Amino acid sequence: MTESVGKERFPSIPERISGLGELAYNLWWSWHPEARMLFKMLSRAAWKVSVHNPVKMLHDLDVEVLDAASRDPRFLRHYDAVMARFRAEVKTASGWFHSNITDPGMSPIAYFSAEYGLHHSLPFYAGGLGFLAGDFLKECSDLGVPVVAVGFMYPEGYLRQRIRPDGWQESESEALDRENAPIRRVLDERGERLIVKVPFIEPPVHVEVWKVQVGRVSLYLMDTDIELNDPWNRSISARLYIGSPEQRLKQEVVLGIGGAEVLNVLGIRHSILHLNEGHPAFAILERIRERVASGMTFDEASRQVRATTVFTTHTPVPAGHDVFPFSLMERYFHSYWPSLGLDRESFMKLGMNPADPGAGFNMTAFALRMSGYRNAVSKRHGEVTRRMWQPLWPELPEESVPIESVTNGIHIPTWIEPRIQLLLNKFVDMDWMNEHDVAETWRLVDDISDEELWKTHFWVKMKLIIRMRERVRQRWLYENADPGIILASGVLLDPNALTIGFARRFATYKRADLILHDLERLKGILNDRWRPVQIIFAGKAHPDDDPGKQLLQRVFNAARDPSFGGRIAFVEDYDEQLAQYLVHGVDVWLNNPQPPLEACGTSGMKASLNGVPHLSILDGWWVEGFNGKNGWAFGGDDMPDRDAADAEAIYRILEDEVIPLYYDVGDDGIPHGWVGTMKEAMISTSPLFSARRMVKEYAGRFYQAALKSAEEGDF
Ligand SMILES: *Cc1c(COP(=O)(O)O)cnc(C)c1O
Repeated sequence: MTESVGKERFPSIPERISGLGELAYNLWWSWHPEARMLFKMLSRAAWKVSVHNPVKMLHDLDVEVLDAASRDPRFLRHYDAVMARFRAEVKTASGWFHSNITDPGMSPIAYFSAEYGLHHSLPFYAGGLGFLAGDFLKECSDLGVPVVAVGFMYPEGYLRQRIRPDGWQESESEALDRENAPIRRVLDERGERLIVKVPFIEPPVHVEVWKVQVGRVSLYLMDTDIELNDPWNRSISARLYIGSPEQRLKQEVVLGIGGAEVLNVLGIRHSILHLNEGHPAFAILERIRERVASGMTFDEASRQVRATTVFTTHTPVPAGHDVFPFSLMERYFHSYWPSLGLDRESFMKLGMNPADPGAGFNMTAFALRMSGYRNAVSKRHGEVTRRMWQPLWPELPEESVPIESVTNGIHIPTWIEPRIQLLLNKFVDMDWMNEHDVAETWRLVDDISDEELWKTHFWVKMKLIIRMRERVRQRWLYENADPGIILASGVLLDPNALTIGFARRFATYKRADLILHDLERLKGILNDRWRPVQIIFAGKAHPDDDPGKQLLQRVFNAARDPSFGGRIAFVEDYDEQLAQYLVHGVDVWLNNPQPPLEACGTSGMKASLNGVPHLSILDGWWVEGFNGKNGWAFGGDDMPDRDAADAEAIYRILEDEVIPLYYDVGDDGIPHGWVGTMKEAMISTSPLFSARRMVKEYAGRFYQAALKSAEEGDF
């Protein structure tokens, strides 16, 4: 069908600047500072009130403001320049991919993921997996990789975190305001909203299709919350990772099978399927079923599908791999396996984990079996994953297990702080952004004067502290919050003190409370009169994860303990926006999960990019990233009583290395040694851990080969 999207409803925008509507609905604006500036120029106040959401802002803005802008020559100059660049970039198919991998005109790559972290106005993420997917799409847009993406619209995606005075996390879900979010309904030929029936599932489930435009990339989101579905099915897409196994299975059926059907209905034939984690793996079944329906045997069909399917696994934590009981699988797939030409036993075998054959249908085992290209997300994670899944290739030694690794990276334009970006424009080269995965480009960071970099960093740090105070002020002002909570939220932070940031999901293996291991030792470090240190924590525990909440309570109680003198702060409601403030504004980024459970980690990359060095255990990306000069590393190997040993390592590094370096200030007021480490962090990590390097690797190592076999029919 020929698709269209719901009209932008901005009746008050004058014709002369009507492109603002299109721009507001394309997240391209979010990683182009000149486009952000355009919205800001309209009204700084409205921009702030909308929490940087141009769709909401344009809905709320007075007609007079828009009229005035449409007659203001300065605004119009800016508008024309931004729109010219926007249209030139978004409307062309050229780019790195087409010059280096294949000609334009190929069918797109379908990318499936259960979550996408694109912007705080779209709460469709829980954590790292989502940001990886979001950053991936943005980079595909920049490089011209022809991708269409599929996911869920979670109308209850927002879990607002509230900490009770006793430190226990409560969360309330907040319904997404669909009309003010940068998403639009997809319409069918008659101009009606597009509803797609998920094949094979009884009673039937329907999804309404929405679309997010990410530069050149379209992301289709499915929503089950429509009248056509029975109430139990309406909540399938209510929120991420529902606990009940049956709802969870339905969610994954809708994501994989429903998602494939959405692409079919839209007439989008994809050449390659890329699965981000195992949740959407049922999409593979649809690819096989179509081929079987057109006359192939199951074996022929799966050979073709395998040769054009990429699977990325993201976690060595067992709970991260879905396993569905056979009885449940039977209920939902008994009418499906005949369509593949399989019987029950051969179907169930597709998802059997040889290490635990009776457990059920394992989505990761299934995806690994049925994909020709498989990868983990860092070198270390590759080793761990090959060991974990070696039983799937019993004839091969561990090191030959065919699972490669492509280390994750971050979308540089999204995660660089705007002032730091200006500094790079000034000292490095106006065009550095176009070559940001080239190591030589980043060496020019050494040309930035220590003074300018330090002053800029301090300005960014102040911005963080002011922002934190402002958030607490609102709570104090309007919610009559408990004074203990107010004091624990960062009102006593000192901009001159060495500031450590720790923000991530409060899963137990991330050990958020590790630094609290020896409270007296920590008090000595934080409360040092001449060289004080402070720590800012943020992060949410999963609502069903009581051990995670206990961890959070422990951290929060330390934050409100007067004997720490307000030098520990906990900020509620960690999200994309708060992450931006934190990774830019603290002095050191701390990371201490229990190895080898951190598959990669990306927040440390975001920090390093902005001159915030990483103090991390040797796990995930830091095994590749640490060079002895760009931050600090400890631990990594297995040992008895690892918590005590790792905590000791952190205290020692702080006392002997980090604190002395930070406070070694020259006569000019600048800690030159520290600034050297900041520069080294930026230079050594940014090009290597960029999404650009990552997407180029996927394209060069996997997509190119998969396209070749698809073209040559060589399966
Ligand atoms: C980057 C990011 C993450 C992932 O960070 P990790 O280091 O992998 O824990 C999670 N949440 C938010 C809001 C982020 O920006």
